[in-house]
Amino acid sequence: MLTDAPPRKANRAGFLESDRIRALDLPRNGHLQEIAQSLESAMEADNIRDVRSACAEFLASASTFYEVPTCGVRVLAARPLRVRENWSTELFGDYTAETMLIRVWMRTAVRKEITSFGTFLSTLCHEFCHHVDYQKFEFHDSWHTRGFYERAAVLYHHARGTPQKKLFWLPVARGRWRIDWPRTNRSR
Ligand SMILES: [Zn+2]
Repeated sequence: MLTDAPPRKANRAGFLESDRIRALDLPRNGHLQEIAQSLESAMEADNIRDVRSACAEFLASASTFYEVPTCGVRVLAARPLRVRENWSTELFGDYTAETMLIRVWMRTAVRKEITSFGTFLSTLCHEFCHHVDYQKFEFHDSWHTRGFYERAAVLYHHARGTPQKKLFWLPVARGRWRIDWPRTNRSR
């Protein structure tokens, strides 16, 4: 995971705010975990209809909790050939702010391998956090900041029922950061 470079001027305040917000409120019930479990079963059965309905249910439940309009979702069998280029890191899904639509796909483009449940759920949470950025935080853009990745990870671990872990970061060129995996995994 690599963060975006900070924007030059106009959106810098929003970028820094996104970077600063590391936490995310979480529901105090197990609804998202339950839906994630049915999603996992649907993926194991390779049943795309059930995967679709579990994704829609997950996003509706999360949207209610975060008090944002429910975003749409399209679950595709395979990664489309044309994926928006500005977010080249989005290997397993994307989000379009104008239409509030998330797309996720069950197979990778080249080798047609099925996306693992963990990766799929993580992608769904990641794209939903883009939605929250626009609709709740009212950012003018949804940058991949350290805060963004941490909020997405908080939601993912809640939904998966795995322990939250602190992410450690290493600076790279041009004001960007990447996760220090050895340190992050050690602190578990
Ligand atoms: Zn993204």
